[in-house]
Amino acid sequence: MSATNARHSAAVARRIVVKIGSSILTEDGRVRDRAFTDIARQVAALREQKREVVIVSSGAIAIGSRDLGWSHPGRSIPEKQAAAAVGQIGLVELYRKRLARYGITVGQVLVTRAGLEERERFINARRTLTELLRLGVVPIVNENDTVATDEIRFGDNDNLSATVVNLVAADLLVIATDVDGLYRETPVAGAPQPTLFDIVEKVTPDVKRAAGGAVSTFGRGGMATKLEAARAASACGAVTALCNGRTHNALLRVATGETLGTLFAADAEERRLASRKHWLAFTRRTRGRIGVDPGAARALVERGKSLLPAGISHVEGNFQVGDPVACIDTLGREVARGLVAYDADAIRRIAGLATRQIGQVLGYSNGSEVIHRNDLVLIEAPERARGERTRKRSR
Ligand code: GLU
Repeated sequence: MSATNARHSAAVARRIVVKIGSSILTEDGRVRDRAFTDIARQVAALREQKREVVIVSSGAIAIGSRDLGWSHPGRSIPEKQAAAAVGQIGLVELYRKRLARYGITVGQVLVTRAGLEERERFINARRTLTELLRLGVVPIVNENDTVATDEIRFGDNDNLSATVVNLVAADLLVIATDVDGLYRETPVAGAPQPTLFDIVEKVTPDVKRAAGGAVSTFGRGGMATKLEAARAASACGAVTALCNGRTHNALLRVATGETLGTLFAADAEERRLASRKHWLAFTRRTRGRIGVDPGAARALVERGKSLLPAGISHVEGNFQVGDPVACIDTLGREVARGLVAYDADAIRRIAGLATRQIGQVLGYSNGSEVIHRNDLVLIEAPERARGERTRKRSR
């Protein structure tokens, strides 16, 4: 996708997910009323253009901390959860009041990763969001911080926003944050500001390096999680715009195809993941790992094959039939992930064997494939070792 194409896609996007970071909504522990007013005005303008908008908003912990009279954002997890419980009310109320001025109704949608990992709940969330959009409501999505601890949470609204892109099949994700975009180098205080990437065609190791690891006080995600979100959004066909939410009319400008901040292109059509595969790759967490030999890794990545017992070297973890499991190559990189047709113990017993031996060894067979192609997604191989041959990618 060329820069012009990416800008054009942003300009014609019908369904837009806007992710608003805490740093836009608050400053030094105070709510920036103006931010809510600006967002509401722009969302109303987008709606006038017959475009649908879902807001993924952080800020519950920041606003709750203020309401509780704290000078800090809540240090322990229970403190943060308590602050979120208090702050979520104020957060949604601010959006409700501001958007009501334009005759727009909002709906609150709180989700957890653990919830969305269940296929049925994921589909329920999709139905609810789709119905809200049909009714002309602007959904305000946040993580349900009160029930989610580190184990079961998205943790950052960047990744959550990419899941929402998949849930509603959005074509544009706007990540409004307090930096202007993705700098080509990490900015250093006192030094001249580096230039921004206008367009990122693909999240390469160089792009990742440029992202460094900045994290702000209230928001949980740094630049790295924004890149992950852009990567996940592009895999379901959405363009991602990373821009400074404090810039005048940033949302509107990005959504009219103006060059503002950094734009991440969507994956080419043939490489996009269908919604279920996207959910499998980016929303579910894996329950174990299967080591695959180089031949099997190539068969998965280059020839689009299923995973057979013969290519398996070892199994890590205990998982059940139907669980998502990562396939790891000999360099320890995750090359694919998929839903297993056998549990961990059974795979340990048939690892390295020919398909016809499955029945003899186990006394039953769930089929030749340990992971069937239809239940498998290829994961972007992390940085390739220097000098390694670039493989043709198939998805
Ligand atoms: N859910 C958190 C909140 O509303 C924010 C998480 C994040 O900033 O990514 O405060």
